[in-house]
Amino acid sequence: MTRQLDEIFAALERSPFRRRFRLGSQEAAYLREKGMAAVLAHARDFVDRRLAPAQPEKDGKQTPWRGHPVFIAQHATATCCRSCLEKWHGIARGHDLDEAERQHIVAAIGRWLESQRNRGLARRPPPARTVREPFLPGLCPADTQSDDGGTGPRPLA
Ligand SMILES: [Zn+2]
Repeated sequence: MTRQLDEIFAALERSPFRRRFRLGSQEAAYLREKGMAAVLAHARDFVDRRLAPAQPEKDGKQTPWRGHPVFIAQHATATCCRSCLEKWHGIARGHDLDEAERQHIVAAIGRWLESQRNRGLARRPPPARTVREPFLPGLCPADTQSDDGGTGPRPLA
């Protein structure tokens, strides 16, 4: 059963790993130029191609660390791979995502991007160490480190 976004965002806020993601200046500029509707259309396309199949290609390493605002949003909202979707969103692995699940994921991405846009108006984001790192193939954070500060369920190893 898919969890509610309010509940998921409250949990993400308690994760030192998830909450340190910020849009880089290039991704923020891209969002401003293209607009939220266009960027969320990209999000839907990524979800359909990279997450929705029952057995996505390269699952756990299909989401780059930079280069598109949606990629950053996916790591921040734990919609980066099927392991994270199962652990954080209650969306089980091993089936084709249905329409409601796809919309849930796009809504999570949109909500996070909206929060970043508002944050950007208030102050400059701090240096985001994570998003400057090159894409490390094969290393989904869910599989390589605890991202819950040690208080929640352990990562699916
Ligand atoms: Zn993941």
